[in-house]
Amino acid sequence: MKNNPATKQSTQKHGPQTEAIHGGEPPRHGVGAPVGTPICRTSTFTFSSTAEMKRWAEGKSKAYIYTRYGNPTLAVAEGKIAALEGAEAAVVTASGMAAISSALLGVLKCGDELISTAQVYGGTYRLMRDVFPDMGIKVHQVGTGLLGLEDLVTPRTKCLYVETPTNPTLRLVDLPKAIAFAKKHKLVSIIDNTFATPVLQNPLAMGFDMVVHSATKALAGHSDVLAGAAVGDKHWMDRIRQMVIYLGGSMDPEAAYLLIRGMKTLGVRVEQQCRNAMAVAEFLERHPKVARVHYPGLTSHPDHKLAKKQMRGFGTMLAFDLKGGLAAARRFCDRVRLFLLAASLGGVESLVILPIYSSHYNMSAEELKRADVSPGSVRVSVGLEDTEDLIADLKQALA
Ligand SMILES: *Cc1c(COP(=O)(O)O)cnc(C)c1O
Repeated sequence: MKNNPATKQSTQKHGPQTEAIHGGEPPRHGVGAPVGTPICRTSTFTFSSTAEMKRWAEGKSKAYIYTRYGNPTLAVAEGKIAALEGAEAAVVTASGMAAISSALLGVLKCGDELISTAQVYGGTYRLMRDVFPDMGIKVHQVGTGLLGLEDLVTPRTKCLYVETPTNPTLRLVDLPKAIAFAKKHKLVSIIDNTFATPVLQNPLAMGFDMVVHSATKALAGHSDVLAGAAVGDKHWMDRIRQMVIYLGGSMDPEAAYLLIRGMKTLGVRVEQQCRNAMAVAEFLERHPKVARVHYPGLTSHPDHKLAKKQMRGFGTMLAFDLKGGLAAARRFCDRVRLFLLAASLGGVESLVILPIYSSHYNMSAEELKRADVSPGSVRVSVGLEDTEDLIADLKQALA
Protein backbone atom coordinates (compact mmCIF):
# COMPACT_ATOMS: atom_id res chain seq x y z
CA MET A 1 0.00 0.00 0.00
CA LYS A 2 1.10 3.51 -0.76
CA ASN A 3 2.81 5.23 2.17
CA ASN A 4 2.59 1.99 4.07
CA PRO A 5 5.58 1.91 6.39
CA ALA A 6 4.84 -1.73 7.25
CA THR A 7 6.05 -2.84 3.84
CA LYS A 8 9.41 -1.13 4.39
CA GLN A 9 9.87 -2.64 7.84
CA SER A 10 11.07 -6.05 6.78
CA THR A 11 13.43 -7.36 9.43
CA GLN A 12 14.22 -6.31 12.97
CA LYS A 13 16.96 -3.68 12.75
CA HIS A 14 17.16 -2.63 16.39
CA GLY A 15 16.57 -4.10 19.82
CA PRO A 16 13.00 -5.11 20.67
CA GLN A 17 12.29 -2.10 22.90
CA THR A 18 13.49 0.31 20.19
CA GLU A 19 11.33 -1.50 17.63
CA ALA A 20 8.33 -1.33 19.98
CA ILE A 21 8.72 2.45 20.11
CA HIS A 22 9.89 3.31 16.58
CA GLY A 23 8.93 0.25 14.51
CA GLY A 24 6.18 0.79 11.95
CA GLU A 25 6.14 4.57 12.48
CA PRO A 26 6.57 6.90 9.48
CA PRO A 27 9.77 9.03 9.39
CA ARG A 28 9.39 11.86 11.91
CA HIS A 29 12.18 14.29 11.16
CA GLY A 30 11.92 17.87 9.98
CA VAL A 31 9.47 20.51 11.11
CA GLY A 32 6.06 19.72 12.56
CA ALA A 33 5.97 15.91 12.31
CA PRO A 34 3.72 14.48 15.02
CA VAL A 35 5.64 12.38 17.55
CA GLY A 36 2.49 10.65 18.76
CA THR A 37 0.73 8.38 16.26
CA PRO A 38 -2.16 10.20 14.51
CA ILE A 39 -5.48 8.32 14.38
CA CYS A 40 -6.67 8.23 10.79
CA ARG A 41 -10.33 8.13 11.74
CA THR A 42 -11.98 7.54 8.42
CA SER A 43 -13.86 4.67 6.81
CA THR A 44 -13.07 5.75 3.24
CA PHE A 45 -10.44 7.56 1.15
CA THR A 46 -10.65 9.76 -1.95
CA PHE A 47 -9.42 8.93 -5.43
CA SER A 48 -7.63 11.67 -7.38
CA SER A 49 -9.53 10.84 -10.59
CA THR A 50 -11.61 8.21 -12.33
CA ALA A 51 -8.36 7.14 -14.03
CA GLU A 52 -6.91 6.34 -10.57
CA MET A 53 -10.14 4.54 -9.66
CA LYS A 54 -9.82 2.43 -12.83
CA ARG A 55 -6.21 1.62 -11.92
CA TRP A 56 -7.38 0.43 -8.51
CA ALA A 57 -10.14 -1.73 -10.01
CA GLU A 58 -7.54 -3.32 -12.29
CA GLY A 59 -5.37 -4.15 -9.26
CA LYS A 60 -2.61 -1.74 -10.33
CA SER A 61 -2.92 0.78 -7.48
CA LYS A 62 -2.11 0.16 -3.84
CA ALA A 63 -3.74 3.36 -2.57
CA TYR A 64 -5.90 3.28 0.54
CA ILE A 65 -9.55 3.10 -0.51
CA TYR A 66 -11.61 1.79 2.41
CA THR A 67 -10.59 0.99 5.98
CA ARG A 68 -11.62 -2.69 5.88
CA TYR A 69 -8.91 -3.05 3.19
CA GLY A 70 -6.30 -0.96 4.99
CA ASN A 71 -5.71 2.31 6.83
CA PRO A 72 -2.52 4.26 7.75
CA THR A 73 -3.06 3.83 11.52
CA LEU A 74 -3.55 0.07 11.09
CA ALA A 75 -0.37 0.01 8.99
CA VAL A 76 1.63 1.50 11.91
CA ALA A 77 0.27 -1.19 14.26
CA GLU A 78 1.12 -3.85 11.68
CA GLY A 79 4.65 -2.51 11.20
CA LYS A 80 5.23 -2.53 14.95
CA ILE A 81 4.00 -6.10 15.51
CA ALA A 82 5.95 -7.32 12.47
CA ALA A 83 9.10 -5.64 13.85
CA LEU A 84 8.54 -7.16 17.32
CA GLU A 85 8.18 -10.67 15.88
CA GLY A 86 11.01 -10.12 13.37
CA ALA A 87 8.57 -10.70 10.49
CA GLU A 88 8.12 -9.35 6.99
CA ALA A 89 4.49 -8.36 7.54
CA ALA A 90 1.48 -8.46 9.85
CA VAL A 91 -2.28 -8.08 9.60
CA VAL A 92 -4.17 -6.56 12.53
CA THR A 93 -7.73 -7.63 13.29
CA ALA A 94 -10.69 -6.72 15.49
CA SER A 95 -9.88 -9.46 18.03
CA GLY A 96 -7.62 -12.42 18.61
CA MET A 97 -10.36 -14.76 17.39
CA ALA A 98 -10.66 -12.75 14.14
CA ALA A 99 -6.91 -13.31 13.58
CA ILE A 100 -7.10 -17.01 14.48
CA SER A 101 -10.18 -17.75 12.35
CA SER A 102 -8.87 -15.74 9.37
CA ALA A 103 -5.43 -17.40 9.61
CA LEU A 104 -6.87 -20.92 9.78
CA LEU A 105 -9.41 -20.29 7.02
CA GLY A 106 -6.66 -18.74 4.93
CA VAL A 107 -4.81 -22.05 5.10
CA LEU A 108 -7.51 -24.76 5.29
CA LYS A 109 -10.24 -25.73 2.87
CA CYS A 110 -12.92 -28.43 2.78
CA GLY A 111 -11.31 -31.88 2.90
CA ASP A 112 -8.16 -30.69 4.70
CA GLU A 113 -7.04 -31.98 8.06
CA LEU A 114 -5.52 -30.04 10.93
CA ILE A 115 -3.44 -31.21 13.88
CA SER A 116 -3.78 -28.99 16.94
CA THR A 117 -2.47 -29.22 20.47
CA ALA A 118 -5.43 -30.11 22.69
CA GLN A 119 -4.82 -27.37 25.24
CA VAL A 120 -5.62 -24.25 23.24
CA TYR A 121 -7.60 -21.12 24.08
CA GLY A 122 -11.28 -21.98 24.70
CA GLY A 123 -12.54 -19.95 21.72
CA THR A 124 -10.06 -21.67 19.40
CA TYR A 125 -11.01 -25.07 20.84
CA ARG A 126 -14.72 -24.42 20.25
CA LEU A 127 -14.13 -23.07 16.71
CA MET A 128 -12.30 -26.30 15.86
CA ARG A 129 -14.89 -28.48 17.64
CA ASP A 130 -18.17 -26.78 16.64
CA VAL A 131 -17.51 -25.10 13.28
CA PHE A 132 -14.69 -26.83 11.38
CA PRO A 133 -16.29 -30.31 11.15
CA ASP A 134 -19.34 -28.76 9.41
CA MET A 135 -16.98 -27.12 6.93
CA GLY A 136 -15.38 -30.45 6.12
CA ILE A 137 -12.18 -29.70 8.05
CA LYS A 138 -11.10 -32.56 10.28
CA VAL A 139 -9.25 -31.74 13.50
CA HIS A 140 -6.87 -34.11 15.29
CA GLN A 141 -5.64 -33.27 18.77
CA VAL A 142 -2.26 -33.99 20.34
CA GLY A 143 -0.99 -33.38 23.88
CA THR A 144 1.66 -30.76 24.67
CA GLY A 145 4.26 -33.56 24.76
CA LEU A 146 3.49 -34.17 21.04
CA LEU A 147 3.37 -37.94 21.65
CA GLY A 148 1.94 -39.98 18.79
CA LEU A 149 2.12 -37.03 16.40
CA GLU A 150 3.28 -39.17 13.48
CA ASP A 151 0.20 -41.40 13.80
CA LEU A 152 -2.12 -38.43 13.16
CA VAL A 153 -0.70 -37.49 9.76
CA THR A 154 -2.68 -38.40 6.63
CA PRO A 155 -2.15 -37.28 3.02
CA ARG A 156 -4.78 -34.58 3.71
CA THR A 157 -3.02 -33.05 6.73
CA LYS A 158 -2.33 -29.43 5.92
CA CYS A 159 -1.58 -27.54 9.09
CA LEU A 160 -0.06 -27.83 12.58
CA TYR A 161 -1.48 -25.44 15.18
CA VAL A 162 0.11 -25.05 18.63
CA GLU A 163 -0.20 -22.84 21.68
CA THR A 164 2.57 -22.56 24.31
CA PRO A 165 2.62 -21.95 27.26
CA THR A 166 -0.87 -23.35 27.74
CA ASN A 167 -3.81 -22.14 29.78
CA PRO A 168 -4.03 -22.62 32.75
CA THR A 169 -1.22 -25.05 33.70
CA LEU A 170 1.50 -23.32 31.66
CA ARG A 171 2.71 -26.53 29.99
CA LEU A 172 5.11 -25.99 27.10
CA VAL A 173 5.30 -27.43 23.60
CA ASP A 174 8.84 -28.21 22.42
CA LEU A 175 9.03 -25.75 19.54
CA PRO A 176 12.04 -27.18 17.62
CA LYS A 177 10.30 -30.58 17.77
CA ALA A 178 7.02 -29.14 16.45
CA ILE A 179 8.81 -27.30 13.64
CA ALA A 180 10.82 -30.36 12.59
CA PHE A 181 7.58 -32.34 12.35
CA ALA A 182 5.79 -29.62 10.34
CA LYS A 183 8.71 -29.28 7.92
CA LYS A 184 9.04 -33.04 7.46
CA HIS A 185 5.39 -33.31 6.41
CA LYS A 186 5.24 -29.92 4.63
CA LEU A 187 2.55 -28.62 6.98
CA VAL A 188 1.80 -24.93 7.46
CA SER A 189 2.78 -24.21 11.07
CA ILE A 190 0.81 -21.68 13.11
CA ILE A 191 1.40 -20.74 16.76
CA ASP A 192 -0.65 -18.67 19.18
CA ASN A 193 2.07 -16.57 20.90
CA THR A 194 -0.30 -14.62 23.18
CA PHE A 195 0.90 -16.04 26.51
CA ALA A 196 4.63 -15.75 25.75
CA THR A 197 4.49 -12.38 23.91
CA PRO A 198 7.23 -11.47 21.39
CA VAL A 199 9.34 -10.32 24.35
CA LEU A 200 9.86 -13.89 25.56
CA GLN A 201 9.55 -15.97 22.40
CA ASN A 202 9.86 -15.36 18.62
CA PRO A 203 8.57 -18.52 16.92
CA LEU A 204 9.07 -17.20 13.37
CA ALA A 205 12.83 -17.06 13.93
CA MET A 206 12.63 -20.70 15.04
CA GLY A 207 10.90 -21.69 11.78
CA PHE A 208 7.15 -21.27 12.27
CA ASP A 209 5.21 -19.98 9.24
CA MET A 210 2.75 -17.83 11.13
CA VAL A 211 2.19 -16.33 14.58
CA VAL A 212 -1.24 -15.25 15.81
CA HIS A 213 -1.92 -13.00 18.79
CA SER A 214 -4.77 -11.90 20.94
CA ALA A 215 -3.39 -8.34 21.08
CA THR A 216 -6.20 -7.67 23.57
CA LYS A 217 -3.81 -9.12 26.16
CA ALA A 218 -0.16 -8.11 26.73
CA LEU A 219 0.44 -6.34 23.40
CA ALA A 220 -2.19 -3.67 24.12
CA GLY A 221 -1.68 -4.34 27.82
CA HIS A 222 -4.21 -2.03 29.48
CA SER A 223 -7.47 -4.04 29.43
CA ASP A 224 -9.13 -1.37 27.32
CA VAL A 225 -9.31 -2.72 23.77
CA LEU A 226 -10.03 -5.86 21.73
CA ALA A 227 -7.39 -6.55 19.12
CA GLY A 228 -5.67 -9.34 17.23
CA ALA A 229 -2.88 -9.93 14.76
CA ALA A 230 -1.44 -12.50 12.39
CA VAL A 231 2.29 -12.21 11.65
CA GLY A 232 4.51 -13.87 9.05
CA ASP A 233 6.02 -13.52 5.60
CA LYS A 234 4.39 -11.37 2.93
CA HIS A 235 3.03 -14.33 0.98
CA TRP A 236 1.02 -15.54 3.97
CA MET A 237 -0.02 -12.12 5.16
CA ASP A 238 -1.44 -11.18 1.72
CA ARG A 239 -3.56 -14.31 1.95
CA ILE A 240 -4.69 -13.62 5.53
CA ARG A 241 -5.44 -9.97 4.71
CA GLN A 242 -7.67 -11.16 1.88
CA MET A 243 -9.46 -13.46 4.35
CA VAL A 244 -9.94 -10.57 6.80
CA ILE A 245 -11.36 -8.44 3.95
CA TYR A 246 -13.82 -11.24 3.08
CA LEU A 247 -14.85 -12.11 6.64
CA GLY A 248 -14.82 -8.55 7.92
CA GLY A 249 -12.82 -8.89 11.13
CA SER A 250 -10.84 -5.72 10.41
CA MET A 251 -9.49 -3.52 13.19
CA ASP A 252 -10.88 -0.07 13.88
CA PRO A 253 -8.36 2.83 13.74
CA GLU A 254 -9.18 3.88 17.34
CA ALA A 255 -8.38 0.37 18.51
CA ALA A 256 -5.18 0.45 16.44
CA TYR A 257 -4.13 3.62 18.26
CA LEU A 258 -4.64 2.01 21.69
CA LEU A 259 -2.70 -1.04 20.53
CA ILE A 260 0.17 1.11 19.21
CA ARG A 261 0.27 3.12 22.42
CA GLY A 262 0.28 -0.05 24.52
CA MET A 263 3.00 -1.75 22.50
CA LYS A 264 5.46 1.11 23.06
CA THR A 265 5.91 -0.07 26.67
CA LEU A 266 5.54 -3.82 26.04
CA GLY A 267 9.14 -4.70 26.92
CA VAL A 268 9.31 -3.01 30.31
CA ARG A 269 5.82 -4.15 31.25
CA VAL A 270 6.45 -7.81 30.45
CA GLU A 271 9.84 -7.84 32.17
CA GLN A 272 8.45 -6.36 35.40
CA GLN A 273 5.34 -8.55 35.24
CA CYS A 274 7.61 -11.61 34.90
CA ARG A 275 9.50 -10.51 38.05
CA ASN A 276 6.21 -10.04 39.90
CA ALA A 277 4.95 -13.43 38.68
CA MET A 278 8.11 -15.14 39.95
CA ALA A 279 7.70 -13.49 43.37
CA VAL A 280 4.02 -14.50 43.52
CA ALA A 281 4.82 -18.07 42.43
CA GLU A 282 7.56 -18.42 45.07
CA PHE A 283 5.30 -17.00 47.78
CA LEU A 284 2.46 -19.37 46.85
CA GLU A 285 4.75 -22.40 46.66
CA ARG A 286 5.83 -21.81 50.29
CA HIS A 287 2.26 -21.25 51.54
CA PRO A 288 0.86 -24.14 53.65
CA LYS A 289 -2.63 -23.92 52.12
CA VAL A 290 -1.34 -24.28 48.56
CA ALA A 291 -1.05 -27.80 47.12
CA ARG A 292 0.72 -26.98 43.86
CA VAL A 293 1.88 -23.99 41.81
CA HIS A 294 2.04 -24.09 38.01
CA TYR A 295 4.72 -21.62 36.89
CA PRO A 296 7.49 -22.49 34.41
CA GLY A 297 9.95 -20.41 36.44
CA LEU A 298 9.77 -22.85 39.37
CA THR A 299 12.10 -25.88 39.31
CA SER A 300 9.05 -27.94 40.38
CA HIS A 301 7.31 -27.23 37.04
CA PRO A 302 7.54 -30.18 34.62
CA ASP A 303 8.60 -27.89 31.75
CA HIS A 304 11.07 -25.69 33.67
CA LYS A 305 14.07 -26.93 31.68
CA LEU A 306 12.27 -26.52 28.34
CA ALA A 307 11.22 -23.00 29.34
CA LYS A 308 14.85 -22.13 30.08
CA LYS A 309 15.81 -23.47 26.67
CA GLN A 310 13.20 -21.83 24.45
CA MET A 311 11.92 -18.75 26.31
CA ARG A 312 13.72 -15.57 27.41
CA GLY A 313 11.65 -15.38 30.60
CA PHE A 314 9.00 -17.44 32.37
CA GLY A 315 5.94 -15.32 31.68
CA THR A 316 3.33 -13.30 33.48
CA MET A 317 0.78 -16.10 33.99
CA LEU A 318 0.52 -18.78 36.66
CA ALA A 319 -2.00 -21.08 38.28
CA PHE A 320 -2.18 -22.77 41.66
CA ASP A 321 -4.25 -25.46 43.36
CA LEU A 322 -5.56 -24.92 46.87
CA LYS A 323 -5.60 -27.87 49.28
CA GLY A 324 -9.17 -26.98 50.26
CA GLY A 325 -10.52 -27.58 46.74
CA LEU A 326 -13.29 -25.54 45.15
CA ALA A 327 -14.59 -24.07 48.43
CA ALA A 328 -11.12 -22.74 49.30
CA ALA A 329 -10.57 -21.44 45.75
CA ARG A 330 -13.89 -19.59 45.81
CA ARG A 331 -13.16 -18.16 49.26
CA PHE A 332 -9.75 -16.95 48.03
CA CYS A 333 -11.20 -15.32 44.88
CA ASP A 334 -13.97 -13.66 46.88
CA ARG A 335 -11.44 -12.23 49.35
CA VAL A 336 -8.72 -10.73 47.15
CA ARG A 337 -8.86 -6.93 47.07
CA LEU A 338 -6.05 -5.77 44.78
CA PHE A 339 -6.30 -8.74 42.41
CA LEU A 340 -9.51 -8.36 40.41
CA LEU A 341 -11.86 -11.26 39.69
CA ALA A 342 -12.04 -11.12 35.90
CA ALA A 343 -11.32 -12.99 32.69
CA SER A 344 -8.51 -11.94 30.31
CA LEU A 345 -4.81 -11.47 31.03
CA GLY A 346 -1.65 -9.57 30.21
CA GLY A 347 -2.89 -6.17 31.41
CA VAL A 348 -1.32 -3.89 34.02
CA GLU A 349 -3.93 -5.03 36.59
CA SER A 350 -3.45 -8.36 38.36
CA LEU A 351 -6.41 -10.69 37.81
CA VAL A 352 -7.62 -14.00 39.24
CA ILE A 353 -10.16 -16.41 37.81
CA LEU A 354 -11.43 -19.95 38.41
CA PRO A 355 -10.85 -22.11 35.30
CA ILE A 356 -13.79 -24.37 36.19
CA TYR A 357 -16.13 -21.38 35.94
CA SER A 358 -14.48 -19.92 32.81
CA SER A 359 -12.21 -21.66 30.26
CA HIS A 360 -13.03 -25.11 31.66
CA TYR A 361 -16.73 -24.64 32.45
CA ASN A 362 -18.95 -27.66 31.81
CA MET A 363 -16.08 -30.07 31.38
CA SER A 364 -16.40 -33.61 32.69
CA ALA A 365 -14.20 -34.88 35.53
CA GLU A 366 -12.35 -36.88 32.88
CA GLU A 367 -11.71 -33.81 30.67
CA LEU A 368 -10.55 -31.82 33.71
CA LYS A 369 -8.17 -34.58 34.69
CA ARG A 370 -6.73 -34.67 31.18
CA ALA A 371 -6.23 -30.90 31.27
CA ASP A 372 -4.66 -31.25 34.75
CA VAL A 373 -7.18 -28.74 36.13
CA SER A 374 -8.53 -29.40 39.61
CA PRO A 375 -11.72 -27.80 41.02
CA GLY A 376 -9.43 -25.90 43.40
CA SER A 377 -7.33 -24.38 40.58
CA VAL A 378 -6.98 -20.60 40.47
CA ARG A 379 -5.46 -18.87 37.45
CA VAL A 380 -3.53 -15.65 37.99
CA SER A 381 -2.50 -12.94 35.52
CA VAL A 382 0.19 -10.96 37.29
CA GLY A 383 0.15 -7.22 36.66
CA LEU A 384 2.40 -4.27 37.32
CA GLU A 385 1.49 -3.36 40.90
CA ASP A 386 4.21 -3.20 43.58
CA THR A 387 5.35 -6.73 44.42
CA GLU A 388 4.93 -6.28 48.20
CA ASP A 389 1.33 -5.12 47.77
CA LEU A 390 0.50 -8.16 45.64
CA ILE A 391 2.03 -10.52 48.19
CA ALA A 392 0.24 -8.77 51.06
CA ASP A 393 -3.09 -9.17 49.24
CA LEU A 394 -2.48 -12.88 48.64
CA LYS A 395 -1.50 -13.32 52.28
CA GLN A 396 -4.71 -11.74 53.61
CA ALA A 397 -6.92 -13.59 51.12
CA LEU A 398 -5.38 -16.95 52.09
CA ALA A 399 -5.42 -16.28 55.86
C1 LIG B 1 -7.80 -14.20 24.73
C2 LIG B 1 -7.11 -15.19 23.89
C3 LIG B 1 -7.52 -15.42 22.57
C4 LIG B 1 -8.71 -14.74 21.95
O1 LIG B 1 -8.49 -13.39 21.78
P1 LIG B 1 -9.67 -12.28 21.73
O2 LIG B 1 -8.91 -11.02 21.57
O3 LIG B 1 -10.45 -12.39 23.00
O4 LIG B 1 -10.51 -12.63 20.55
C5 LIG B 1 -6.77 -16.31 21.82
N1 LIG B 1 -5.71 -16.97 22.33
C6 LIG B 1 -5.31 -16.78 23.59
C7 LIG B 1 -4.13 -17.54 24.11
C8 LIG B 1 -5.98 -15.89 24.42
O5 LIG B 1 -5.58 -15.71 25.68
